[in-house]
Amino acid sequence: MRAEDGSVRVWTIANQKGGVGKTTTTVALGGLLAAQGYRVLLVDLDPHGSLTSYFRCPVEGAEDQAQALFRERPLDRRDAFMDLLRPVSELPLWLLPAGMGLATVERQAVAVDGMGLRLAQALALVRGELDYVLIDTPPILGALMINALAACEQLLIPVQTEYLALKGLERMLRTLNMVNRSRGQALPHLIVPTLFDRRTQASVHSLRQLRNQYGHGLWPGMIPVDTRLRDASRAGIPPSRLDGRSRAVQAYDALLRYVQCEFEQRQAAGPGRSMP
Ligand code: ADP
Ligand code: MG
Repeated sequence: MRAEDGSVRVWTIANQKGGVGKTTTTVALGGLLAAQGYRVLLVDLDPHGSLTSYFRCPVEGAEDQAQALFRERPLDRRDAFMDLLRPVSELPLWLLPAGMGLATVERQAVAVDGMGLRLAQALALVRGELDYVLIDTPPILGALMINALAACEQLLIPVQTEYLALKGLERMLRTLNMVNRSRGQALPHLIVPTLFDRRTQASVHSLRQLRNQYGHGLWPGMIPVDTRLRDASRAGIPPSRLDGRSRAVQAYDALLRYVQCEFEQRQAAGPGRSMP
């Protein structure tokens, strides 16, 4: 089940819009992967610390754990990085907690050379210790988002199925284009329709619009509105631990299998696509 070469799969969950299900998607997929026996790290890269509060994980000391990646001197020891992680359930699931301290990083980092690769460098230290890293991001384009995009091999873009959803998506896709140009390679991305309520016109209409405009790069399924997700968040446990049969968990499970399958197909097809 584990990658034999010790490689870590790193996925970023991002959209330049809040309230679209980024944090929920991170927790739901992380819980499912950990239940499959993978060693999973969830990285909170949002100064609001929603992922950190989800697990009631207090930020410790004078700086947030995530802030330690952005000190003047880069983190260069595996054990120093592992010390920052907190176990968040009886599953093989860990969290790199964050809090408002990260906002200062966001302000300072843009000016400092090489700061955009800090997360990627830290994750390179833990090859062989983890199987998956899922990165939750803030809804703004800044140094933290750039770090997340530079560190990952797969981007998931949750999009709420409602009228204004496509605006945030377009901004996010422009950011992705910019990152692709500087990487010289296309980062695989998948748009994930979320909070779908088939009883509302807004949901039905925007899902249709997504499918018309973004056939390629769009997950053919959708995550339904499901109050069990809020219950799981209130309980502070991954949704699959609360109710593995709930509609949203089933949908996240289908999404996970889709992404894993796409990854395997890409591996079989050979090296990544270069930019045109
Ligand atoms: P983001 O991280 O993009 O800001 P969140 O994941 O925090 O978004 O979701 C915003 C709110 O919507 C949270 O209260 C969350 O519990 C709720 N939520 C997210 N997805 C669903 C869903 N599929 N069904 C019901 N509530 C959801
Ligand atoms: Mg969030």
